[in-house]
Amino acid sequence: MAKIQSSKYVLCLVSSLVLNLISIINLYVGREWNLNWSSKAAREAEAVAAISCSGHGRAYLDGIVVDGKPPICECNSCYTGPDCSQPLPDCAANADGGDPLFLEPFWMQNAASSAILVAGWHRMSYTYTDDSYISQELDRHIRKLHAIVGNAVTEKRFMIFGAGSTQLLNAAVHALSPDNSSLPAKVVATTPFYPVYKRQTDYFQSGDFEFFGDTSLWKNSSDTSMNFVEFVTAPNNPDGKMNKAVLQGPYAKQIYDHAYYWPHFAAISAPADEDVMLFTLSKMTGHAGTRFGWALIKDEAVYERMINHMTLNTMGVSRDSQLRALKLLKVVLQSRGREIFEFGYKTMQNRWEKLSKIVSLSNRFSLQEIAPQYCNFFHKVRPASPAYGWLKCEMEEEKDCHEVLKAGKINVREGNKFSADNRHVRVSLIRRQDDFDLLLQRLTKFVSEEDGGGDNKTM
Ligand code: PMP
Repeated sequence: MAKIQSSKYVLCLVSSLVLNLISIINLYVGREWNLNWSSKAAREAEAVAAISCSGHGRAYLDGIVVDGKPPICECNSCYTGPDCSQPLPDCAANADGGDPLFLEPFWMQNAASSAILVAGWHRMSYTYTDDSYISQELDRHIRKLHAIVGNAVTEKRFMIFGAGSTQLLNAAVHALSPDNSSLPAKVVATTPFYPVYKRQTDYFQSGDFEFFGDTSLWKNSSDTSMNFVEFVTAPNNPDGKMNKAVLQGPYAKQIYDHAYYWPHFAAISAPADEDVMLFTLSKMTGHAGTRFGWALIKDEAVYERMINHMTLNTMGVSRDSQLRALKLLKVVLQSRGREIFEFGYKTMQNRWEKLSKIVSLSNRFSLQEIAPQYCNFFHKVRPASPAYGWLKCEMEEEKDCHEVLKAGKINVREGNKFSADNRHVRVSLIRRQDDFDLLLQRLTKFVSEEDGGGDNKTM
């Protein structure tokens, strides 16, 4: 009797397993083949992606539509025409802004794995179900990414998301400044520095903080009771240096901006382990337009102050951006970062090598030097591959390097924008290949026409 009962039980179990399996297969096959509402969106996305724009532009789903025709091509700088096929003959090479479009080809190669389709009702709420503004899944993926790259310690750290690290810069200044003190914190950075530090601090006027210029002015100060908030940018924008904190003492606090501490741009020497660290998707995957950055914070009180700031400011980061960031990170993690960082590093290293070669032929210009260094991510000594060239005009009479290059039809960013002298300019190397190719072309012409320049130097 017991035997019959137990075989009935086994039979029941097996049939229930089989039924479950069939419904899972049905569900899966249903998803694969019977798309109910997503196929139209997928078709639209693929149709726009198929517009080639002659390889010198791009069409987007939200591009301008004229007379109901497909979205028009948005051409790269120096190209025009309905399909972007016509080069603009006298157009100046654009080596100005820091748009990281050098990574665009990587994402086109990974079109299938990086695409997302968003339902009309996706995360309409102000909050996630745990009442937070942060996707726990994205938080987990970011920590995994840092562990794989080895560029930051995330254990026992709080994480905050921002609309790009731009939003987190001032949130961090606020969080590190004393509340209602008669003496506002002095916000400082080491020249040359990223201009937004000063511009934001000046603009978001507060009794709690004030921009006070270059760290060197305060390095030897004997007054150790002053509150400082120092921006430490490593690698630095514009010159690629691995900056370290200059000001020490009990009242000196730092915001480490590690926007460029990724294998594309720098050797990963050790995991960064500072109290307040900022990162951004913009310079890691290249998706500046997604506006997604994150802060890793050691101290709970600082974290609470920053969270309070972000809550009053935007109530967190767009859930749509968080979804996209998650998808992109999943692609990055699929190969444990190998594919994207190899692509990024090779592109940047190749560009740096080409720029350095041309500049080395010139007596008129020079570039910053960055020594090869051992990289824990690639497990080898690797040459430099910075995001920007910090170019100097060497001739005594050429004090405005921006104007010098402008005359040669090259647009760059003036040194004084980084609180440095105008003998220096920043040359962006992270833009689209079209921009970089034109930059090289113009610079080669410039150097070959140099008076006596190039004669006595060899490649
Ligand atoms: N810090 C540095 C040093 C940067 O160069 C940039 C972008 N140019 C940012 C922060 C801000 O980046 P995002 O707001 O796109 O995250």
